Amino acid sequence: MRRSMPLLAFSLLALGVALPSGHAQTPPAAKQKQGRPPLGIEKVADDLFVIIGNGGNVGVLVTDEGVVLVDDKFEQDYEGIIAQVKTITDKAVKYVINTHHHSDHSGGNTRFIEVAEIISHKNARANITDAKQSGAPTSMKPARITFTDETSVFLGGKEVRARYFGRGHTNGDVIVYFPAQRVIHTGDLMAGVTPLIDYSGGGSIVEWSKTIDAAMAALDFDKVIPGHGVVTNRAGLQTYRDNVVKMRTAIAAMIKQGKRQEEVRAFLSAQYPTVYSSPNSPHNQKSLPGFMTELK
Ligand SMILES: [Zn+2]
Repeated sequence: MRRSMPLLAFSLLALGVALPSGHAQTPPAAKQKQGRPPLGIEKVADDLFVIIGNGGNVGVLVTDEGVVLVDDKFEQDYEGIIAQVKTITDKAVKYVINTHHHSDHSGGNTRFIEVAEIISHKNARANITDAKQSGAPTSMKPARITFTDETSVFLGGKEVRARYFGRGHTNGDVIVYFPAQRVIHTGDLMAGVTPLIDYSGGGSIVEWSKTIDAAMAALDFDKVIPGHGVVTNRAGLQTYRDNVVKMRTAIAAMIKQGKRQEEVRAFLSAQYPTVYSSPNSPHNQKSLPGFMTELK
């Protein structure tokens, strides 16, 4: 269980949730308990739901022939996800589409691979087999089915389409589109107050906005399920995108003026204290050093 707290912290920080100070001193038994908070389920459209709580948001499309999930949280959330699905349908989970390789989105593969087909972008699979996420459980299982640009699952007369628009949060983020419902699931391309850019997983703050722009131009949607946080709409995603570009422009100017990483962190911390105030936060560990290099 040594790894459970960093993973939980990762997930909460991505969401922009402040951790109580001194959480590092939490005793092991309490850590385990905190790692399994109850999950909840909310309706997004008639047949489309989102499972919230620990880890990334899970999209749930219900059809007469079975259920398609988008992401499957941590391995430890498997039973919780199954229990939430059972509250809305007696059909079994047939497919899981992973938005990317992180263990708070693909950790449940370890269990779901026994009962469902798992699909991801080929880079997301490679990031799991190459262990690109430090601290991820060694039990992580990659998808058996991969794609490069686009794939669809057709089940019970419904379609779920997964598309790759380029790098952003990682190099393997897909946006999952529910055309009939006019909804997208962004994975962590949109997550919390401002996106984590995972450079060790192939992410890029420069490519991020191109990826979002390409998706917004290509897909006709109204609602957005982010990787973490509350369901929003097209205007919400546009505002989020514009804020990232504003932040990127500001810090690129600072870096070009020769400001040091600590000065850039202070600037980011003032704007987004929940994710940048702690020097050990995932944003400071995984994103900021990459910004200093990429925006030079
Ligand atoms: Zn992620």
